[in-house]
Amino acid sequence: MSTKGFLERLAEGPVICAEGYLFELERRGYLQAGAYVPEVVLDFPEQVENLHRDFLRAGSDVIEAFTYYAHREKLRLIGREADLEPMNRQALAIAKKVAAEGDALVAGNICNTNVYAPDDAGAARQVRAMFEEQIGWAVEAGVDLLIAETFSWLGEAEIALEVMRRSKLPTVVTFALHKEDRLRDGATPSEAAKRIEALGADVVGLNCTRGPRTMMPFVAEMRRAVGIHIAALPVPYRTTREQPTFQSLIDPDPVCRHCLPNGRSFPVALDPFTTTRYEIAAFGREALELGVRYLGVCCGAGPHHIRALAEALGRRPPASRFSADMTKHYAMGTDPTLKAANQAYVRNL
Ligand SMILES: [Zn+2]
Repeated sequence: MSTKGFLERLAEGPVICAEGYLFELERRGYLQAGAYVPEVVLDFPEQVENLHRDFLRAGSDVIEAFTYYAHREKLRLIGREADLEPMNRQALAIAKKVAAEGDALVAGNICNTNVYAPDDAGAARQVRAMFEEQIGWAVEAGVDLLIAETFSWLGEAEIALEVMRRSKLPTVVTFALHKEDRLRDGATPSEAAKRIEALGADVVGLNCTRGPRTMMPFVAEMRRAVGIHIAALPVPYRTTREQPTFQSLIDPDPVCRHCLPNGRSFPVALDPFTTTRYEIAAFGREALELGVRYLGVCCGAGPHHIRALAEALGRRPPASRFSADMTKHYAMGTDPTLKAANQAYVRNL
């Protein structure tokens, strides 16, 4: 347990939660795009530990156990159902270990099951059972808070919240908003936020799928709709009105587009759309101004994005020691000992 609780920290100011472990570990060569199951937790645990540490040094206040998609449906899909419990317990242990190195909070995590269907009592039972086993392991591990994320069905999020609420721990519920601007069961983000508030969550908001530009208008609406804390964790991609989600982004370069399988940039060719750290800093300032207290970056985020977010909130995390300082650059710098000829040559760079 950390020295200061989650709700206490939120009452005082913003709380950062780095997400996006799937994409970062995929880039590093330890996780497969497609099924996106965090087998890395069991197969290369030191890589998960290192990534948590990178985000902690970059300013994340929460270390989220890497149990996203470590649920029964996904493990069945890849033929590793027997590894379900060890994978969850190991992910929780790794998160706890790293959080203790920096007085960070540890979060248990559940997510979209891809099993849920409205008016299907059997599916609802299956979803509930999946959440109950995962939340049970998180509670036994002694987490500080519980996060249920990336839901595109309000009904599924309601089941998640009901299961989490039994633990008496603080709860965060975030929705993934696809192209339609509403959840799959028809609710607008604001309507969903009101429902989640009424069911007793501590934080509600949006995560994943949308970049800052196409997520923030809905975050602002949710902020106005409810009294509880609001979460915003966009993907670090330049989504637009016409292409509001990272799944819908189309490479504007015709040469590059034609070398893509299916012409789609999602998920492993999104590089040209990546936001700079300055855009993430701008997102952080805008969100804070709106009164949004729970901030992070989802799929695609690297530690540099989280550091930029932390610095935009006025922090100086350990990794800020290496934040850019161009005064000592050989040509662009201003240090008096630099050679004038190199400084003059800067126009040719
Ligand atoms: Zn994501």
